[in-house]
Amino acid sequence: MSKTNRTPPPCPKCGSAEQVVPVVHGMPTEEGKRSAARGEVWLSGGCCIDPDAWAWYCRSCREGFGRLADERPELFRR
Ligand SMILES: [Zn+2]
Repeated sequence: MSKTNRTPPPCPKCGSAEQVVPVVHGMPTEEGKRSAARGEVWLSGGCCIDPDAWAWYCRSCREGFGRLADERPELFRR
């Protein structure tokens, strides 16, 4: 298992932590696609990473939350 080592925070809307998965930004790898098929991650689609994009996605509310640049600063580190 090479999922993100971050534990998703509970959804601010429904409070569920089990339904919250990390959002994978940019072009997904083959592994990313498999993880998405298993419901472990959410694919944002698109080819670029937006700092204001969602960091987390609630499968229950079908809505994302969290600002990517705040939640996953390592993605923007050069
Ligand atoms: Zn929710």
